[in-house]
Amino acid sequence: MFYSAFSDELVKIAGYKGAITSHVNKPDWGRFELEMQDQKFREAVLRHKKADPKLKKYVGEIGQHLAANPVGTVPGNKGATYEIRKTKTGRVTCTCPSWRYVHSHKGTDCKHVASYKKSH
Ligand SMILES: [Zn+2]
Repeated sequence: MFYSAFSDELVKIAGYKGAITSHVNKPDWGRFELEMQDQKFREAVLRHKKADPKLKKYVGEIGQHLAANPVGTVPGNKGATYEIRKTKTGRVTCTCPSWRYVHSHKGTDCKHVASYKKSH
């Protein structure tokens, strides 16, 4: 489990001990996603030598996305509306699950980003 590999480093950061301990005992990706909203948490993942490269890419891209400026919205299926954002590096991101879990670390665009790019 990648997570236990850098748990020692993470526990040094105040506030994460509970999250780390519980995750190592029973992996909790929901909790990981929640903790990932914190910049300190993301930095700890990114600088750890043993963290999986794909995970680092994911955490890095999500960090960029969270700090990005909203530039518009695109309607999704089932009445959902997704926010389109632009990062400091110029990448266009989306708040939909597909962008988050599939496209963020691949560097590709979800259909909402593609739709946004067509009209901008
Ligand atoms: Zn999307």
